[in-house]
Amino acid sequence: MSKASTEFYGIDVGGTNLRCAKVDAKSGKLLGPVVTRQMCDIASNRVLTDTIRNLLPADSCNVGVCAAGLIDEEKKVIRNSPNMKIPDEITFASDLAKLGFNVEMGNDMATSVLAAALYGDGRGYRNVALGTFSSGSNYAVVRDGQLGSVRMEASHYPAPLQAGLLFGWLGKDSNYEENSRGPAGFPHLAVLAQLRQYFFIRGSREAHHPLLLKGLEIFNKTVNDGMPAIAAKDLETSAFARAAAISSLSPTFLPDEGPLVGEGHNAADFETLLAWPRLFCGCGGLGHIEPYLSGNGAASMAQQYFAVSARPSHRIIVLALQDYNRKAEKEGWSMYEESTPDRPLSSRAYIAALSAISAKHVYAAYEESPDESPQKHIRDTQVRMIASSFGTLLSHHNPLDRIICMGSMTNNWSCIFGPAIASFKENQTGQFYLDGIKSPQIVRNTLDDIGIIGGVAYLVSKQGR
Ligand SMILES: [Zn+2]
Repeated sequence: MSKASTEFYGIDVGGTNLRCAKVDAKSGKLLGPVVTRQMCDIASNRVLTDTIRNLLPADSCNVGVCAAGLIDEEKKVIRNSPNMKIPDEITFASDLAKLGFNVEMGNDMATSVLAAALYGDGRGYRNVALGTFSSGSNYAVVRDGQLGSVRMEASHYPAPLQAGLLFGWLGKDSNYEENSRGPAGFPHLAVLAQLRQYFFIRGSREAHHPLLLKGLEIFNKTVNDGMPAIAAKDLETSAFARAAAISSLSPTFLPDEGPLVGEGHNAADFETLLAWPRLFCGCGGLGHIEPYLSGNGAASMAQQYFAVSARPSHRIIVLALQDYNRKAEKEGWSMYEESTPDRPLSSRAYIAALSAISAKHVYAAYEESPDESPQKHIRDTQVRMIASSFGTLLSHHNPLDRIICMGSMTNNWSCIFGPAIASFKENQTGQFYLDGIKSPQIVRNTLDDIGIIGGVAYLVSKQGR
């Protein structure tokens, strides 16, 4: 019987890669190399199950799986994973169980917080929260490393009122200036700013939106530079095509009434936005906290800024175009010339840069010129909102001993998280906090391969081993 096996394997299944390693279930240490397989070639359940089967010992063992998407933990299937090519339920975990392996599979936030609590920076603490700050953001909380106490999905609640950050038109003519309190001036331009941020953060999920199709039509008509027109179907796969369409959105063809963006957002939403600008969330929601904490949020703020303010020599645009060209060379796309003092960027080069902006560029520019727009406002907003999210997390989940932060945004520890923690602690000593509220330590995650180890932590916690 498989449960008697003392060998544990952790598997981290993502949209891009599948990673697997043998893990010591007592310490969480890896006992062998991490083996990686690319997911892009795997288009059927049979191939995926065979691929994973071949990474495991011939006779059965314990297998803990960390997976993104909607998981049915009892049936051991992934019901819905937006990033995988397999169209139906993903069944490798239940297939392996039928073959005699002792398998458990959990959502990546649940597995990661258990890994942190059992093996990582939360080890020895009763009440542990884990925050991920990467392209998206999320929190999960666990007590005593017990699966039954895991609470998660804590970043899609409404952001505080003062959170607005959109860049708008304060002046006339082409005199665009930033306004960290939101777009001023003409209501239509404010709506346009909101729409652009919506389409940047929602990406390919809005490829068939009539407003984007209209924007693309305008782009193809107005940018006559001898290049072939961009096809509508490219909106699905090409960030360049979407940036071209988004940049060409014009207030003159916004509908007077009816839905402006995805379901649930109509013209009335946008009217309230004029008084209270809020960012759209990648989930489609409005004013959620995630875009304020996440890398995709930082990128969408910068993209919105550069879509209204043509600043072709800005450091963020320069860095983004370099990255675009590196990727273009690899993928065989057209590359675009970078600007020189006597040769400005072409329209297409600017759009290529716009499409490639990421949080990495925003914070690289911040390190070089912290007082410049838009990086100053984006960073200040993110610091404030991360501090605020610590407070909200604590007020919902008190007591917390440790909040552990992980993800690519924590690479900017001293310029984002240091000040956010200081601000949070400062507020905590004030009148808003009661004696019964514990002050958690806030630290950066040091556990590598948290996905793989999390699979094992999940299995161990679920089966009480
Ligand atoms: Zn959301």
